Amino acid sequence: MREDFLLLNPGPVPMTREARAAMAEPAVSHRSAAFEAVYERAQDHLEYVFEHSTPRGASTSAGGTALLLNGTATMGMEAAVANLTDRDSEVVSVVNGKFGRRFARIADRHADATRVDFDWGTSVDVDAVADAITDDTDVVTIVHNETSTGLLNPVEAVGELAAEHDARFVVDGVTSIGGDEFRVDDWHVDVAVTDGQKALAGPPGVSALYVTEAAADHVHGEGAPFYEDLDWHLRKAESNQTPFTSAVPLFRGLAAAVADIREEGMPDRIARHRRQAAAFREAFRAMGLESFPEVAEGSALSNTVTAVRLPEAVRGDAADDFHDAVAARGVSISGGQAHLGGEIFRVSNMGGLTSEQILRGVRTVGEAFTEVDVDVDARAGVEAARDRLR
Ligand code: PLP
Repeated sequence: MREDFLLLNPGPVPMTREARAAMAEPAVSHRSAAFEAVYERAQDHLEYVFEHSTPRGASTSAGGTALLLNGTATMGMEAAVANLTDRDSEVVSVVNGKFGRRFARIADRHADATRVDFDWGTSVDVDAVADAITDDTDVVTIVHNETSTGLLNPVEAVGELAAEHDARFVVDGVTSIGGDEFRVDDWHVDVAVTDGQKALAGPPGVSALYVTEAAADHVHGEGAPFYEDLDWHLRKAESNQTPFTSAVPLFRGLAAAVADIREEGMPDRIARHRRQAAAFREAFRAMGLESFPEVAEGSALSNTVTAVRLPEAVRGDAADDFHDAVAARGVSISGGQAHLGGEIFRVSNMGGLTSEQILRGVRTVGEAFTEVDVDVDARAGVEAARDRLR
């Protein structure tokens, strides 16, 4: 591995030296006081993140509990849905990308799921969602920041609909929480899900849930999956424990990562992420590239993931040449997922990236396109990013 390797995928993202060092500490039992201290620290910092993710750091929740779970965000998404439903429950899932679709698939496994579908990369039409939610709806799911397309969905408006119909609102904040605004109470969120390896900049393999007091009242353990029984997890968390063996090194890495977030402070972190995402967007525009997502009222471009349409000449199989040219420069970015493979590329600015790293990402993309004979204005791209980061 090159020493200057730069990870710009939308997860996993680079970890700090502290987080990596925490994972390398000697093993301890998950039933030891040493582990309980790790859990308590991680939970405390996570609650700060879940409850203070606004540009001014104001409190966003009147109360709730952050839980750490073994397993990535998909585990967290399933835990949330499976604990709030039974086979007869009605779930409405908003789908405009790969991760919205995943939520719908999970809902379909556990309940009676209705999908409200939009083309991937297009904005959610809140009126169509309103038509689907009724007084019989038990749970509504949505992805806040759709990583597969780089679009921020209208969580606030959909949350109002869920609240009007007294449905539990489960939100995937996997690539927003820890990097962008996320307002639990204002958006009527009951359970929020995030991942260790995304905007929290921790290790892959662990996820975090925020369960509000209102949602906890709906979680009784009956019929819940054994391993993901949130009632059990909530009770054990009171003594900084987990029901089963925890992935101790990963919990330590996450505890260190969220300590870094608290040190930076959510307002500064949100401002930095917004500046860095704008730098990527403006740089690619200045190069002559086209943004992928279509933004309508109520939606916005992501502040953590930038998705760009590949120029005609490098679409489909030819996209590999572009990605190879990027990789040869020691930088890792992502292509499109599912049917968007060969159509778009995506870069992340999640975590603790520096301005120099953002500029290197821009420079690398410009050089790679030039190498594969796509005519982009690489210099203008770097200048635009530099202006924005100044
Ligand atoms: N939700 C979103 C928005 C994501 O971006 C991802 C992963 O990229 C997931 C859920 C699922 O994460 P994992 O595959 O790590 O379980």
